[in-house]
Amino acid sequence: MLASLAGWFAAGERGAAMLLVLAIAGFLLRQLWMVLRLLHWAACPLGTPTPSASGAWGAVFEALYRRARLSSAEREQATSELARFRRAAEALPDGVLILDGHRAIEWMNLHAEACLGLKASDLGSRITHLLREPQFLDYLDSADHRGVPLDLHTQRNPGRTLQIQAAPFAAGRTLLLVRDVTQLQKLATMRRDFVANVSHELKTPLTVTLGFVETALDVLHETPPAEIAEYLQPAAEQARRMQQLIDDLLTLSALETDSPPPLEDPVEMPALLDDIRREVEALSAGRHRIVLENHGPRGLLGSARELRSAFANLAGNAVRYSPQGGEILLSWRGEAGGGARFFVTDHGLGIAREHLPRLTERFYRVDRGRSRDAGGTGLGLAIVKHVLERHQAVLQIESEPGRGSTFSVVFPAHRIQS
Ligand code: ADP
Repeated sequence: MLASLAGWFAAGERGAAMLLVLAIAGFLLRQLWMVLRLLHWAACPLGTPTPSASGAWGAVFEALYRRARLSSAEREQATSELARFRRAAEALPDGVLILDGHRAIEWMNLHAEACLGLKASDLGSRITHLLREPQFLDYLDSADHRGVPLDLHTQRNPGRTLQIQAAPFAAGRTLLLVRDVTQLQKLATMRRDFVANVSHELKTPLTVTLGFVETALDVLHETPPAEIAEYLQPAAEQARRMQQLIDDLLTLSALETDSPPPLEDPVEMPALLDDIRREVEALSAGRHRIVLENHGPRGLLGSARELRSAFANLAGNAVRYSPQGGEILLSWRGEAGGGARFFVTDHGLGIAREHLPRLTERFYRVDRGRSRDAGGTGLGLAIVKHVLERHQAVLQIESEPGRGSTFSVVFPAHRIQS
């Protein structure tokens, strides 16, 4: 009995031991399985949900899942911030480049590519191999380039003036800002030329006026009034020239600053054309035959004052640049498509082809002396150009030296009222 009990216990212990071994093996297998699932998950693309499990592994997977979600949200935020930064850098009106410590281009926006004549494939290349102008290389080398921009003309973008500003930037990098200042420089040159021209135009008549007035003053007591008048007459003429010049300058400045004339104001063309004819006849004083043709629409939408000034300028030039006896035709006609055309034809001096594109520049004259003798200020066609731009009209000039000229103004259909 005792022996059989002992045998039973012994058999029970073995069984328990077997069970224990099996349980441990099962446990280890599960751990292995979970580790394998974890490894498999880790090899899956980012964002794959963690495997599901119960117990401690469930808690581990849950914690990993939370961390993975957190880091993917952070990554998304960083990516969208980077994209926003890039969009902002692309939207900048200037070119921006980032150079690394070896001056290789790490990044640049499209403006930088366009300004410097570079392409996306130049990323990674050294800027000093792409832009070889010595003053650019000296500028990059100079330690004190901070705050002082460089004006550069580069062969990669001929005809343009670029302003380059370098700024040292984190970890040996350099930020380069590139701006195309061609237009600004042109404007500055135009402003300088304009001031020089105006001063020159005023100086001559002022000197002449002063000369005559001083002479008149010197001889005032011992000279009869009739002789004094001879000194004062040319002085008055020069003063009138200055007044005309200043009037034209004020007209130009008003045209540049006022808003364009409205589309609702109809100008009665028959009356306007009659006024122009009378003005031109007075200027010609019977030296020319003035012919007016009016086959055009009745109403023109715009500013009567500005249009009168533009038409009178064109007609006045025809008188001033035509010899005595010449015929001057003033004509107003409808155009196919609903527009209309005002033109002035003369049989005067004519203009050589090379001058035509520059005639509307301020103070541009084909023959300075002749223009002055004819009482011109050199601003008439500049005023015409501004008035026409404000009425969406265009100026066409046909001319042949020695045969005469036709100056036409073509108005678009939306400015016409029949
Ligand atoms: P200006 O006051 O000198 O006439 P404009 O601007 O009116 O100035 O004209 C510019 C130049 O264009 C004139 O100096 C003249 O040389 C030339 N020009 C203008 N109109 C005519 C024309 N009808 N015939 C010949 N030359 C002309």
